[in-house]
Amino acid sequence: MEILFPPRLSLAQTPTPLLAIDRISEIAGGPRIWVKRDDMTGSAVSGNKIRKLEFSLAKALDEGCDTIITCGGVQSNHCRTTAILCAQLGLKCHLILRGAEDSEIEGNLLLDRLVGAKISFYSNREYQQKSDQITQYWLQHYQGEGKKAFLIPIGASDGIGLWGYIAACEELKNDFSRLNIQPGHIISATGSGGTQGGLTVGNELFQLGAHVWGMAVCDDADYFVNKVKQDIAQWRQWYSPIIDASFDSDSLNIRVIDDYIGPGYAQATPEIFATINMAAQLEGLILDPVYTGKGFHGMLDQIKQGRFDDTNDIVFVHTGGIFGLFPQRDQLQLN
Ligand SMILES: *Cc1c(COP(=O)(O)O)cnc(C)c1O
Repeated sequence: MEILFPPRLSLAQTPTPLLAIDRISEIAGGPRIWVKRDDMTGSAVSGNKIRKLEFSLAKALDEGCDTIITCGGVQSNHCRTTAILCAQLGLKCHLILRGAEDSEIEGNLLLDRLVGAKISFYSNREYQQKSDQITQYWLQHYQGEGKKAFLIPIGASDGIGLWGYIAACEELKNDFSRLNIQPGHIISATGSGGTQGGLTVGNELFQLGAHVWGMAVCDDADYFVNKVKQDIAQWRQWYSPIIDASFDSDSLNIRVIDDYIGPGYAQATPEIFATINMAAQLEGLILDPVYTGKGFHGMLDQIKQGRFDDTNDIVFVHTGGIFGLFPQRDQLQLN
C-alpha cells in the first residue's frame, strides 16, 4: 500500500546513520547492536523531537499561527528543540517549564534562554494539578493580544507527532535493505510515548518485521501502553482520509519494559552512569542520564537475560539528549 504523509517541514538532517557498535555487542554477548543515530538530526536541534516537530510545526504554519506554546521539564530536550526551531522559523515561543524559577541556567535551559524563548516556571505540584488550565490561560492570553498561538503537547507526542517516527521507519527500511540486515527488535527510551508510538505504527506500515520496545524512563508499563494507544487512536481519527482503511491499528502490540526507571524521571542510578561511561569510552557514544542512558542500559541488561536471542541484529534508536548530561556532571566518574 502507498503511504501518504501530511504536510511536513524539512528541518532535520536526515537520513541519520545506522551504525554497528561491535565492541559493545561483543561484551553484551547477544545480537549485533546497530544504533540509529538520531542524536545527529542536527547540532543544537539534535535528537528525536525534531522529527515530530517537522509535522507539528507544519500544521502550526498552515493554520497561520505566529506563536508556539509547549511544555516540559526544566531540562526538556523537546522544549529546547522547539525554542530553537521557532527562532529559525521566526515564530514566538513560550515554554511552560516544570521546575524552579531559579534553576541553574545551563544545558537545555541555557539554549532556551539564548534563543529568546519566553519561559514560565511552575512547580511540579502546580503543573501536575493544573497543566490544562495553565495552557488554556496562555492560549487566551495570546488571543487577547491579537496573536494566534498553537499548542504542542509535551514531547510533541500526539496524533500529529506520531508521523515523525512513522517517517523514520521508511528510513530504517532503506537502511536495512542497504545493509542487508533484518533486525528482530527496535528499542528506544520512552518518555511521552510518541517515539514508541510512531515506531510501532511505522514498523507495521513499512513491514519492517521487528518488535518495537519502549524502555520506560518515568512511568510504568500500563501508563505507556495506554498513552501510546491513545496517540495511535488520535492519529487514526485525525488522518483517516490518508490512512489505508485496511490498516489494523487496534491490534498493534505495544511493548514496554519498565525495570530501569530507577528513582524517577531525570534521576538515574550509579549503574546507569557506569553504562554512560562505558559507552562513551568503548564507542564514543554519548548517552544521557534522563533517557538514552536508561534505555541503553536496559537493552544491555535484557540482552544478558536472553530477551533478544531470537535474532542476529537489533536496533537501538539513539534519541539524543546530550545537553541533559551537563547538569548532572557531578555524578559522572571522570578520568
Ligand atoms: C523525549 C526524549 C525521549 C523520549 O521520547 P518520547 O517520544 O517522548 O517518548 C527519548 N530520548 C530523548 C533524548 C528525549 O529527549
